Amino acid sequence: MDLQTKALHAGYEKDSQGTMAVPIYMTTAYEFRDVEHAANLFALKELGNIYTRLNNPTTDVFEKRFAELEGGEAAVATSSGMSATFFAIANAAECGDNIVCAKQLYGGSLTLTAHTLKRFGIEARFFDVHKPEQIESLIDDKTKVIFFESLTNPSIDVADIEAITTIANRHGILTVVDNTVATPVLCRPFEFGADITVHSASKYTTGQGLAIGGILVERKGLIEKLKANPRYAHFNEPDASYHGLVYVDVPLPPFTLRARLSLLRDIGAVSSPFNSWLFIQGMETLSLRMKEHSKNAQALAEFLESHPRVKKVNYPGLKSNSNYVNAQKYFEEGACSGLLSFEVRSLEEATKIVNATKLYSLVVNIGDSKSIITHPASTTHQQLTQEELLACGVPSGLIRISCGLESIKDLIADMKQALEA
Ligand code: PLP
Repeated sequence: MDLQTKALHAGYEKDSQGTMAVPIYMTTAYEFRDVEHAANLFALKELGNIYTRLNNPTTDVFEKRFAELEGGEAAVATSSGMSATFFAIANAAECGDNIVCAKQLYGGSLTLTAHTLKRFGIEARFFDVHKPEQIESLIDDKTKVIFFESLTNPSIDVADIEAITTIANRHGILTVVDNTVATPVLCRPFEFGADITVHSASKYTTGQGLAIGGILVERKGLIEKLKANPRYAHFNEPDASYHGLVYVDVPLPPFTLRARLSLLRDIGAVSSPFNSWLFIQGMETLSLRMKEHSKNAQALAEFLESHPRVKKVNYPGLKSNSNYVNAQKYFEEGACSGLLSFEVRSLEEATKIVNATKLYSLVVNIGDSKSIITHPASTTHQQLTQEELLACGVPSGLIRISCGLESIKDLIADMKQALEA
């Protein structure tokens, strides 16, 4: 089945009412038939609903449908993209372990890995996404995860997924790919050897900036990589917190099973059924929207590249961009999503341009159907010094755009008047 067909139908069997739209099961808990039924559910002898912190029929459709789009085996929805990333790492690593991360990460993922996880005793070691060969020297037998973004935010680089997963697989290490900006429509990391993907559903999945959510997806057959792998003893030994359950001995995808039974149970960062329902609505049009976002961003990038006031444009769909070759290899039909950035000569010029646009909203979000403009040096990266800004590829004249679904004629006309104001 094609992705667009799956996006409309996967994971949902109509209930007795025949409802065409997936119902919102707004409930905290579920009644058990009797004590034996309840005991069987807790012991996994029977699968079914227990409590919405663990599972919910609306969220279940979102998880099954998203796993299908990504080409994975199973998924766990979470309350935000950040909690999906946290769960992916915390499910593999513990105090005393380390993770190897790309330097080019979303700001929240950088602070999570470099600072918050450090306080939990998990050390992050960083490599340049353009130099996967650096990974080898960072790995040791305590390395539990290699984490990177397929299409990076905000630096807009494209990872060489295969080069990274080849190194990881040589050492039996799990790879976690944040596929938020590319979405399963444009890039499917499992086809290139990745093990786990995470997404902020708050971006293109909802598509209209409606809700915060996240999802973690496990590839098919991951059990073979975890089985008898000394790095992941906690999947192979009895879990004292779940009456001695051994995750790889259960006929269910082990990574998502543990994320649900252990992490969702104890940390509780669960997707609300209403938000899951919004994400289901968004997925119905995801592939149509991603094509249009990409088309608009490509045309805007080409316009900006031709404008004398613009020093540099970062968009992997431009032949002049250093990520062009990777984008052609990893992205469906070379379409590169809606994120681009461009550089003008100074902070003052950038400020004038951002203030002069009328159609682009000054917002720190991406993936909305409405176009968004951001000036990282005065917002998301405000705390950094000039030197730090340059080191992470954010010069003070950099402007980031999340290209929406407005008419491209209007988007270009508004950008032109702002550049020439
Ligand atoms: N990953 C990427 C690439 C992001 O851009 C973001 C948010 O901007 C996140 C993760 C975090 O997602 P959320 O805001 O849903 O927690």
